[in-house]
Parts: sequence; structure tokens; C-alpha cells
Amino acid sequence: MIRLSKKVNLKKNQFIPYGRQDINLRDIFNVLKILKSDFITNGPAIEKFENEISKYCKSRYALAVNSATSALHLSCLALNLKKGDWLWTSPISFVASANCGIYCGAKIDFVDINIENGLMDIKALESKLQIAAKNGTLPKVIIPVHLAGTSCDMESIFKLSKQYGFSIIEDASHAIGGKYKGLPVGSCKYSDITVFSFHPVKLITTGEGGAALTNNEKIAEKISDLRSHGIIKDQKRFIDQDPSPWLYEQQYLGFNYRITDIQASLGLSQLNRLDKFVSKRNAKLDLYKSRLKSEPINFLEIPKDVKSSLHLSIIQLNKELIPFHRQIFIELRKLLIGVQLHYLPIHLHPFYQKFGFKRGQFPKSELFANSSISIPLYPSLSYFKQLKVIKNLKFVLKNYK
Ligand SMILES: *Cc1c(COP(=O)(O)O)cnc(C)c1O
Repeated sequence: MIRLSKKVNLKKNQFIPYGRQDINLRDIFNVLKILKSDFITNGPAIEKFENEISKYCKSRYALAVNSATSALHLSCLALNLKKGDWLWTSPISFVASANCGIYCGAKIDFVDINIENGLMDIKALESKLQIAAKNGTLPKVIIPVHLAGTSCDMESIFKLSKQYGFSIIEDASHAIGGKYKGLPVGSCKYSDITVFSFHPVKLITTGEGGAALTNNEKIAEKISDLRSHGIIKDQKRFIDQDPSPWLYEQQYLGFNYRITDIQASLGLSQLNRLDKFVSKRNAKLDLYKSRLKSEPINFLEIPKDVKSSLHLSIIQLNKELIPFHRQIFIELRKLLIGVQLHYLPIHLHPFYQKFGFKRGQFPKSELFANSSISIPLYPSLSYFKQLKVIKNLKFVLKNYK
């Protein structure tokens, strides 16, 4: 018999990761129920999960897929991103925010960030758009990234999209559970599509998984078709006017990007606790902020009209400590504090260097990366462990003050 122990392992020398899933017994039982049911994939749990996501986010449609990367790829395809088109995103993101454009044959460029919050800089975007308009290189798609769970200034980006004619995919992989101007991230009020990730380090998890949300019926239909080979099962949409009853039609080239009912049942179960997760993250960040007040570091700014879901707790070293960024990082890791960098700017990865991007091209992003450290933050991070993070961080910083 399997024993499901709730006991926390309090070993002294335990590595504290920067993020971690929170799975409880109810989650486990909900998954077990699906495993014993008629459908473990392509069944009713997926639809239920999608309905609950769109209800929570106030979007008309939600399409669950096997990762946020897949959701980004399908979103680009649904917006007709093609060879020769431009896609712009933020350098301070996971590589998937840019890779999705490459999958479609598009060319990638980046918009620099605000150093205070790590989010796409609207002024930089505006002047880059002005130049692109003159050169005839305007982007077809822009992907703002809600770093650490904090929404970008979507209303401004939306206004620019009307002026310059681009589509918007919000990469909200960090941001389910957050709000912007009183509306849930995912409402798509200021975008065509919003994408979430359900990877275990993110806000809620399905193991691997993601979703694309939209208010546009055509986009929803396209994503839904493409996630399953481009196969259409609804006879009303068939090209063959006299189909046999068993027939399905492949009308274009799609993929197998489907999520399973096993995963969806975990997602549904997790979604129930999302608000609780976010408030726990907030309380833990507050503890960090109060205990680290007099340290030579800053926490990322959260704009007034944003409620961040706080996927990450990113600290920025004061100027005089920046030369020691790498050293501080290594020392913390040695002390078993699972610090992480979010992110190495995408244009500095060897793969992107091949496209001719230069060091110094997006200076604020590079400065951000050279001064930022993500410290552990997740719902089940115990008070004991958090104190350990605080104590060790103070200990390491002391040597550089
Ligand atoms: C995690 C992440 C992704 C990719 O998510 P997967 O579900 O692992 O594919 C994309 N963009 C950002 C910003 C992310 O953090």
C-alpha cells in the first residue's frame, strides 16, 4: 500500500529551490479518479478545465494544450505569422517567447525593458515602431511578457497595436491569478491571445501543460484544430459534401499538442487553490521585503494598477554590488539556496547570436540580467526555510557592503 505522508522533510541541509509545485491529497485523489474513469485523454475533464479557466479569467475561450510553448506556437499560427514576418518580444523572458516565431519562419527582434520592473518599455516600443514604420519592417505580432506575474502596460500596447496594425499575444506564463486594471490576466481585453504555462514551477501545474485564451471565435477554432493534426470532426465544416459517418478530415497541417484528462484533472484541482497560492506568495514576499529592508538590494516594482501573481521574487543588487553578481550567486548556491537567473537575455543565447544580435544592443535588459537574482518563493515555502534564505542572503551580502 502507498502511504501518502503529509509530513514535511525537515532535513537540515536541504536545497531550497526557487520554485516548487504544491500538490495536496485532494489533487492526488482527483487524478486517481480520472485514471479509473473511461477517458484518460480527450475526455470531459479537458473541457471542464477549459471552461473553468475561461470563467476565472473572463475570456470567451480557453484551449488547453501540452505546454505554453505549444500554445505560443499555435497562437502565432492562428495569427497567420509567416516566413518573412517580424515578431517582437522582450529579451528578458524564457526562450520560448521568441522560439515560437522562429517555428513559423518569422524574424525575431526585441524591445528593451524598464529596469525597475523588467517589463517591456512602452517608450522603447513606441520609438522602435516609428522607425520600423519608416523602414517597412513593422511587426505582425508582439509578445509582451508578464515577468514574475506582473502584467505589462497592456492598454498602451493595445493602443499602439491599433495605430501600427500588429497583433498581440500576452505571454502570461507567469501571470495566471494576476490582475490588470481590475480585470484578470487572460481576459484578453487588450490582446488577441493570452498564454499560460502549467509547468510545475509556475502558478498552478498540470505536470506539463499550457493554455491559450481568446475572445475571437476564429482564433479559438484554429488553435483547437491545430492542436490535433489539423483534423476536423464537425461534419458541418467538412469539405467533402457527402461524408461517410466515420469520416474525419485533415484540412491543414497541425500537431499533436493535446493535453490529457489526467493533466486537466490536476489543473482543475489546482485552479481551486490559485487564489490561495497567490495570497501565500504575497505574504511571503512581504516577509522578505520587511526582513531585507536595510540590505543593498531592491525588489521589482509592481505598477499601481497591477495585482501581480508573484511567480518570482526577483531582487536587484545595488549598483556597487553588480560586479559581484556572479560571486554572490555562487555563494548562495553553495549555501543550498536555489537562486536562479530570470533571465539570460534571449538575444545573448548562442542560437540567437547567430542572427547577428550584439552584446549591448538591449542595455537595460543586460543590466537587469547582470543585477538580478530570483530567490525562493512558492506557496509551500515554510517560515523556517524562508528564514534560512534571509539569514544566508544577509550573510553573503555582508561581505560586499
Ligand atoms: C515557462 C515559460 C514558457 C514555456 O512554458 P512551458 O509550459 O514550459 O512550455 C514560456 N514563456 C515564459 C515566460 C515562461 O516562463
